[in-house]
Amino acid sequence: MIGEAINRNRSLSRPFTFLHRGRRLRVTSLITPSGGRLRVWQDLEPDTRKGEAAPSWDTFPIDLLDHIADGATVIDQDDKIVAANREFHVLYDVPQGRSVIGRSLAQVVAEAWAGAGERPPAGRSLFAGSVHAMVGPFEVELPDGQWRRVSARPLASGSGYFSHADITVLKRQQYDLLVAERRAREGEYKYRLLAENASDVIIAMSADLRIQFVSPAVRRVLGWGPEDLTGADLTQFIDADGRAAFLPARSRADQARDRHATFTCQMRTASDAWVWMEASVGLLPGEAAGDHAIAMVCSFRDVTERVRAERALKLAHDELSSMAATDALTGLANRRRFDAVFEMEWRRALRDLRPLALMLIDVDHFKAVNDGHGHVIGDECLRRVAHLLRASMRRPGDLAARYGGEEFAVLLPDTPSAGTLAVVEKIRSAVETEDWDRIHPDLPRLTVSIGVCCAPRATAVSMGEMIRCADEALYRAKNGGRNRFDIHEIA
Ligand code: GH3
Ligand code: MG
Ligand code: MG
Repeated sequence: MIGEAINRNRSLSRPFTFLHRGRRLRVTSLITPSGGRLRVWQDLEPDTRKGEAAPSWDTFPIDLLDHIADGATVIDQDDKIVAANREFHVLYDVPQGRSVIGRSLAQVVAEAWAGAGERPPAGRSLFAGSVHAMVGPFEVELPDGQWRRVSARPLASGSGYFSHADITVLKRQQYDLLVAERRAREGEYKYRLLAENASDVIIAMSADLRIQFVSPAVRRVLGWGPEDLTGADLTQFIDADGRAAFLPARSRADQARDRHATFTCQMRTASDAWVWMEASVGLLPGEAAGDHAIAMVCSFRDVTERVRAERALKLAHDELSSMAATDALTGLANRRRFDAVFEMEWRRALRDLRPLALMLIDVDHFKAVNDGHGHVIGDECLRRVAHLLRASMRRPGDLAARYGGEEFAVLLPDTPSAGTLAVVEKIRSAVETEDWDRIHPDLPRLTVSIGVCCAPRATAVSMGEMIRCADEALYRAKNGGRNRFDIHEIA
């Protein structure tokens, strides 16, 4: 046994301690200048535990430590290092020539930090108390992101054998993984946070518009629970406008451009009412793989209030513009509107080679009505004339307007002179036969004089010319005795 141990350690030049028949022997082998080997044997203090056959770790062949790839130390029960190999010195960056014998591992680590001019990260205490108290392997952080794992094996005398492995790479990979994992989790968390707390209803769908995810806001906005919608077809919950808008969105799903679309549609609530929603659809890039793969994400915002406001505004606007186009006294189109419609109809007649008729109507001796019965009665009479004019119009394109004072104008688009004559006569006789007594018993019978200008098809006549012709015809009707009409037919 001795020979074997010596053979094994022939190359060693350091002292080697071993157990032999209850004695601890130390052998130091020196190479002589002549190339020979000189061995010095030393009998150390006698082993007290006589007769014990089992080898004790206390007699660990310390010189063998240098043959261990990992760092190796023997640490006594007072936490003092009694032996350390070369690799340990390398691992803990112990300066050349400095002995670690008699120091604690904590001191060696602290010196490594001090040597690097740094302090160990706060809050990450290396190891509390004695290394012997550590349960299982423990990790030690060193400067420059270096990490060591220390595994202990107790020795009989209360001291311990500690191996030290470099786990820096492992630790870095672990850390990178942790960071990646945390980032992924944070990312997902953020999006979940957004989706679950947004006031918009966020719906993710597969390409066939089947709902794969609904944010909880759906409960507040539409009254549905997410479970009511998940797996269902979106088209069941949106109106025809929405369906029409979604289908082209789906067909565009494979195209690179136009990945976003916004439109307004109505969504059905749990209580079967409809809510105005603004939908913003985003198509996910790439082809959706699988039936349940999400192909588009849509956020729906409740715009009921906005739509209501817009409608109110439109009503107000319509009312305003009709006010601007209507004569307040008679409710007929006013002069402004008449001018606009006249121009439109005149252009159309010219373009389509259709006839156009214009009449100017003036109440006969109306000054006398005002003078004799006052303006209130006069106004009432004008309202009645307006009513009779309106009643004489049949076609939707016909327009009666208050042209000014007690004068009215009537426009008959696409009406040849025969038809115009019929309408003119109808107006004249309607006024003549009206029961004017109803307004005031003393009121004289009111009549009108009418000047007509008929522009047949394919005739280029200016608007001004038509007005002038109608006016001249009216003048002739007045001069002809009133309560009659006169027609100017343009050749
Ligand atoms: P004629 O046309 O037959 O020649 O006689 P007339 O009395 O109608 O003549 P004129 O056109 O000169 O008088 C128009 C009168 O119509 C003047 C005014 O008293 C009256 N008039 C014009 N506009 C209004 C109105 O808005 N309300 C009322 N009450 N009267 C009006
Ligand atoms: Mg007049
Ligand atoms: Mg008049």
